[in-house]
Amino acid sequence: MKIPAEPKVILRSCRDYDPERIRTIIREGLEELGLRPFGRTLVKPNLVAAGPLFPYAYTRPEFGEGVLRALRDVGGSAMTELAAGERCGITVPTRVAMRESGWDAMLKKVDVKRYCFEEEQQVEIPISHPNRLRDYLFTPEPIARADFFVNCPKFKAHPWTTVTFSLKAYIGIQDDRHRLIDHDHKLNEKIADLQHIIQPSFIAIDAITAGEGRMLTPTPFPLGMIIMGNSQVAFDAVCCNIIGVDPNSVDHIRLAAEHGFGTTDLSKIKITGDVSLDEAKARAKGFKVGLIRVEKYFEGTNITAYAGPPPESEAGDYCWGGCPGAIEEAIEILRVFDKETDKKLPRMHVVFGKYDGAINAGPGEKVIFIGDCADWKGTLHDKPIEIKNLYKDRSTLDPHTATSQDIFAKLASAKSKLASDVIRLEGCPVSVAEQVLALVGVAPGVKNPYLDRSNMLTFTRAYLGWKARVTLNKLQRKRYQQNGTFQHRGQAAPELA
Ligand code: SF4
Repeated sequence: MKIPAEPKVILRSCRDYDPERIRTIIREGLEELGLRPFGRTLVKPNLVAAGPLFPYAYTRPEFGEGVLRALRDVGGSAMTELAAGERCGITVPTRVAMRESGWDAMLKKVDVKRYCFEEEQQVEIPISHPNRLRDYLFTPEPIARADFFVNCPKFKAHPWTTVTFSLKAYIGIQDDRHRLIDHDHKLNEKIADLQHIIQPSFIAIDAITAGEGRMLTPTPFPLGMIIMGNSQVAFDAVCCNIIGVDPNSVDHIRLAAEHGFGTTDLSKIKITGDVSLDEAKARAKGFKVGLIRVEKYFEGTNITAYAGPPPESEAGDYCWGGCPGAIEEAIEILRVFDKETDKKLPRMHVVFGKYDGAINAGPGEKVIFIGDCADWKGTLHDKPIEIKNLYKDRSTLDPHTATSQDIFAKLASAKSKLASDVIRLEGCPVSVAEQVLALVGVAPGVKNPYLDRSNMLTFTRAYLGWKARVTLNKLQRKRYQQNGTFQHRGQAAPELA
């Protein structure tokens, strides 16, 4: 993978989601960068969550339409396949996100193939750079085989990693079971390691309506821009500068630069387009990022949060990539689903990591210890309580044998776990979905989005389609392995999972 010696970032003004206007801008961007799509051309939008509850969380289909049409304009017959693929937020089938976002209808209209990454064969990619978390990573076959990869993220804040631009969107190039491994206080390192799987030939971010403050339920911020580039680190560095954030203060950007994926030094990045960097900064004035510790996040609500450091064997005083951030997203999902959530939630306490202080729980107030690394000893409701650290060293986790978490199994088990006043939720991390279920489980008045009748039919149908496809993959896997027919950009046949 080649990282351009002289990266370029193009800033273009675009106030509306007009697919034809977007197509023209993208086509001009490809031409300015001297890029011609070829072979298997794959577009990855950010569809982490979609539909009416999450209107500003995802790359809009009008944007995708403009990008896909422009790729076809420029690539023409040099492309052997034009496709779009994504893995949305875990536990929800990507089929749902594709449908709810409008991407399904758009892809049908422009006659482009769809990949739901969790339904594809997962390919083992060896990595060997210094300080890696693992010796190999798994990624879906369409990513491993892409010749011309196009990253189409959404311009957003993120409560765990400050921003989610191009680099961070790589969390969507893994299926659930592989995505959750190292999705904890090592999240920034994981994102940097994922860069070794593939680099995009072209990046185009939907910054027409950006999302500030949060990741799943951001506040709309009319930035009116399309930003394009040919180097992922340089691209994210410019996006950071636009919102007044030092890119080197964002760990995954700094780490990706250290891994050799480009520069954050603006003096080495050529910035062009019809919007100057100063004008872009003026447009983004006041844009809020989302990095906020959980204790502060819940101040003034019925939830009191306590956070100690992650396990001693690991560095850092707070788990930015895991359970504490997940509960912030969980509560925001409930707030958009049920406007009365804050009023309906009873007084409760949530505890993360090795917390040493007192927990002032009144009679009947639930205390929820969240995550394997929760570790606390003291008195609650006049009884001595000891919560033991269950954290398993990450070297004991094997991506070959990792299993995905089934949402229906979670639904079934959530209720029984939540009956007592002192609750322990195990996992590393405990996902957003599980924390949503925990919160609705202890607050019976709050509406459960997983039991919403209007969503259930679509959800169940998509879920069954996903599972049927995965079963079929298992049957095909043996054939792949026996024949050794799979090639990852010229390497020997890697292992499928
Ligand atoms: S259990 Fe949760 S808080 Fe603890 S290290 Fe894992 S992800 Fe972080």
